[in-house]
Amino acid sequence: MSGVRLVIFGRQGAGKGTQCARLSERYGVPHVSTGDMLRAAAEAGTPFGLKAKEIMDAGDLVPDDVMFGLVEERLAQPDAAAGVLLDGFPRTDEQASVLDRILGEHPLMAAINLEVPEDIVIERMLARGREDDTEEAIRRRLDLYLAQTAPLLEHYDSRGLLVEVDGVGTEEEVAQRLVAAVEARRS
Ligand code: AMP
Repeated sequence: MSGVRLVIFGRQGAGKGTQCARLSERYGVPHVSTGDMLRAAAEAGTPFGLKAKEIMDAGDLVPDDVMFGLVEERLAQPDAAAGVLLDGFPRTDEQASVLDRILGEHPLMAAINLEVPEDIVIERMLARGREDDTEEAIRRRLDLYLAQTAPLLEHYDSRGLLVEVDGVGTEEEVAQRLVAAVEARRS
């Protein structure tokens, strides 16, 4: 049986972090979030991390050559030999092509889109009640996400790799749908 190699897409507030943690445990593969890696580098205060923080704070994308090095190195770690759940990468068509090259003989099994309608994630985020989370700011971030992600969803759809998973429901319900989606791809 082939290893579980997935890319996971989902809006902020869609529950991706929680669900990735569950999938990671179930399948024994690491959850690799490029955003988390960059934030950890920023917190560590390395020159690289500080530069990355500047870029993230400006709302820009970290340059591709930097991202490629980061991801290639991470995927070469022993824990990723059996598979990986990639979150936040790829974000561009170019990154998607490079990912295929990095994965080589062990290609992606699927690209999962954890779909939660915009109105529901806005409600969830407003309920969390962070001061800077005005509805307008949230909508702006979600629009940006959609603009960035739509071409990638199309890219994976055209290759027959895209799997839409309904992200509305209890944590348990959504987890079961994700496992069913993964199992359907494995068999
Ligand atoms: P995220 O937590 O995935 O939203 O990522 C937070 C920030 O990290 C993004 O807004 C980007 O600045 C940067 N970042 C994360 N992943 C990538 C990527 N694949 N390519 C470029 N920049 C990225």
